[in-house]
Amino acid sequence: MAAFGSVFMPQMALTQFDNNTWSDSTIVDSQSIQLHPGAHVLHYSSTCFEGLKAFKHDDGSIHVFRMDQNVDRFDQSSKLLHLPDIQKDQVSHMILDILANYKDQIPEPPGSMYIRPTHIGTEPAIGKAASPSLSSMLYVLISPVGDYFAGGAKPLRILLDETGMRCAPHMGMIKSGGNYASALGPILAAKEQVQADQILFCPNGDVQETGAANFLLIDGNEIITKALDSSFLHGITRSSILQIAEDMGMTVSERELTVQELLERAAKPGVEAALSGTAAVLTTVGTLIHNGKEYKVGTGEPGPTTQKLRQTLNHIQWGKIADKHNWLTQVG
Ligand SMILES: *Cc1c(COP(=O)(O)O)cnc(C)c1O
Repeated sequence: MAAFGSVFMPQMALTQFDNNTWSDSTIVDSQSIQLHPGAHVLHYSSTCFEGLKAFKHDDGSIHVFRMDQNVDRFDQSSKLLHLPDIQKDQVSHMILDILANYKDQIPEPPGSMYIRPTHIGTEPAIGKAASPSLSSMLYVLISPVGDYFAGGAKPLRILLDETGMRCAPHMGMIKSGGNYASALGPILAAKEQVQADQILFCPNGDVQETGAANFLLIDGNEIITKALDSSFLHGITRSSILQIAEDMGMTVSERELTVQELLERAAKPGVEAALSGTAAVLTTVGTLIHNGKEYKVGTGEPGPTTQKLRQTLNHIQWGKIADKHNWLTQVG
């Protein structure tokens, strides 16, 4: 099986912003785009993206999960990066159009079609380090993906980092390549030094998120995660899991969680911790590493609540239980 996100459909949907207008979107060869080597994105990182999925149901119909939320966040990222404002309806149509062309290539669950809308500044102007790109390109690339856990879901080892930051705080809500570049060095160092899979960034002791996923702590009937603020990425899996938890009668606590409270609670039997994101849905955190010491979370193994939350979300996506919050958009 190919690595996640390394297989692409040969075509994608594309629109370009020039002279203050978006072109009609077209379906083009995925390898057909041309960029000037002086393009703004290549020098000043005027780039943002989204990640969402389409699922095949038993009757063969195709459904995109929470497309409106992803398009809203794409709009927000574009605005915060001072890229041209996107046309949300156009982007939604581009997603549905390109999926309609590849309906027969969408894997059966637990696989799916991963959708990667991308928006980049294209103006060839290396003198514009401190001004926005006046032209841009927006495309929707799609990639069939298998079961994220095909190799078995191993609980993660997570380093708690109270001094570093994933990205500059005013960039936290932007889904942008620059933020990943910012987190890469620390993550590689944590892998090498303490064999951590990820860093959980906890600036000044405030448990925030990892490089690409939100963090959730489950203690009995309570699920705890950081309340939304502008310093971190507002995951759509996070909000979906919180809604499902509430539907299941759990207490949802969106509030500050300190490293100290996390370590105290993690030691209690029955406590579970997980990372949430579109690619893997929910991944169990088995071990926390802090100041050279290791702390198991509960048993260190996947717990029943994490599994139930993940399964409920998957079953909504796969059409096995009712979509009572209208999270699915059917591809025509
Ligand atoms: C994409 C992303 C997430 C997860 O968001 P989802 O909408 O759940 O996929 C969390 N943190 C960061 C930094 C991200 O880029």
